[in-house]
Amino acid sequence: MKIFYKKDNLLKYILNEKDLGFVPTMGAIHKGHLNLIKKSKDQCKKTLVTIYINKQQFNKKIDFLKYPKVLNKDIAILKKAKIDYLYIPKSKEIYPKGANKNIKISSFSNKLCGRFRPGHFKAVVDVIERFIKIISPKKIYLGEKDMQQLKIVEHYIKKNYKHIKVVACKTAREKNGVAYSSRNKLLSVKQMKISSKIYRLILNNKQKLVKRKIPIKLIKNKIFKLGVKKIDYIEILDVNNLIKPYTKNKKYKIFIAYYLGFVRLIDNI
Ligand code: AMP
Repeated sequence: MKIFYKKDNLLKYILNEKDLGFVPTMGAIHKGHLNLIKKSKDQCKKTLVTIYINKQQFNKKIDFLKYPKVLNKDIAILKKAKIDYLYIPKSKEIYPKGANKNIKISSFSNKLCGRFRPGHFKAVVDVIERFIKIISPKKIYLGEKDMQQLKIVEHYIKKNYKHIKVVACKTAREKNGVAYSSRNKLLSVKQMKISSKIYRLILNNKQKLVKRKIPIKLIKNKIFKLGVKKIDYIEILDVNNLIKPYTKNKKYKIFIAYYLGFVRLIDNI
C-alpha cells in the first residue's frame, strides 16, 4: 500500500491507471468500509481509498470536533486489507479556492437528512467531485447505509460523469444489528444497546408499518421510551422512488435519524 499526502505525488502513480476503484471515507475505518474495499478489489485492478474529514459537510461544530480521528489505526487496517493507494489530503489541496456553493444536485436532497442538515449534501457532492477530478476513477463505491447520499451522488454522476459507475454496497451490521458507523465509537455501552433495540424494533415491525397496519407514531413513541430524546425523522419510503427514473417494483425502507446524547445516527432498514 502506497500512502500519499500530496496530490502531485499521487498523480505520478495513478496517472496511467485505467481501472481504478475509488472508496471515499472519513476514516475510523470499520467493517462497512472494508466491504466497500472488498468489492472494489474484486471488480477493479487497483483500489484507492481516501481518508478526508470534510469539514464543509458538517452542520454542527461539535460533530466535527468529536468525529473519531484514528489515523494510525486506520493505516494499519488498510495495509492489512491490501489496498493499493491511500490518499490523505490536506484541506488546502482539496479546496484551494473554497467550496463550490453553486453545485446543482437532485431535489431529493431536500428530504430526510436534507431538512435537518442544510447544505450537507451539496458539500458531499462537491468533495466527491473534487476527488473525481484528481483521481479519475472508473468506479466509485458507496454504502447503502447512507442511502440518501448514495442516490444523490449516483444521480449527479450519471448526469455529469457518464463514464464513471457508482457501485452500491449493502449495509454491514454488527451482530446486534446496529449498522457499522464511525460515530458508533462515540457511543457508551448503554447507548449501543439502545441503538440495537431500535434496529430490532423497526425490523420486527417493518411489514406492519409498510402495510400501514400500525402507525409510525407508535414506533416513534416506543423509541422515545427507550431513552431517545430527539428523532429528526422516521419515514417509510419506496427506495426506487427516491429519485426518478424509478422502477415499478416497490422496495420500501424505513429511514431514521435520531440522537443518542450528542451523537446523531442514521439508518435505513
Ligand atoms: P464515511 O466514512 O462514514 O463517510 O463512509 C464512507 C463510505 O462508507 C460511505 O459510502 C458510506 O455509505 C459507507 N459506509 C459507512 N458505513 C457503512 C456500513 N455500515 N455498511 C456499508 N457501507 C457503509
